[in-house]
Amino acid sequence: MRLRINEDGIRNQVEEGIQRTLTSCLQCSKCGGGCAYTEEFDLTPRQIIESLLDCQDEKVLDSRTIWMCGKNCSGCQIICPVGLPLNEIMSVLRGVAEERSIEPKYAQPSLIYHKFEHCAKHRREGEASESMDGREA
Ligand code: SF4
Ligand code: SF4
Repeated sequence: MRLRINEDGIRNQVEEGIQRTLTSCLQCSKCGGGCAYTEEFDLTPRQIIESLLDCQDEKVLDSRTIWMCGKNCSGCQIICPVGLPLNEIMSVLRGVAEERSIEPKYAQPSLIYHKFEHCAKHRREGEASESMDGREA
């Protein structure tokens, strides 16, 4: 991993926000490996941290991951060997993105969501058809 110094980079904002240094990340990928949402991400949480350390701010702020990771969970903090709070990291990143008027990205809705919608649609159609049958009888 390359490390550059960028005093104006968002890495500093993240580190101030979580009161931890991102260099403590071991780049072990345990966070992403144990996460149920990784298929939705375009950058893994490990890659988000790597990119922050590498001053690739635009890549991070352009990612879908920051809008999807850590919104309602913090499970990986227990798995992380150094206890980095990815949910807090993503929250800081979403705040920075909002300050810069970057639109949230949810470009690839979950396949599970699609399946759920598909099933719900057919269930609604089935119920409507049953109730029409009931009226006709
Ligand atoms: S914070 Fe939640 S969504 Fe993000 S990597 Fe950890 S478990 Fe997955
Ligand atoms: S589990 Fe922790 S140390 Fe490992 S890559 Fe994720 S944030 Fe870094």
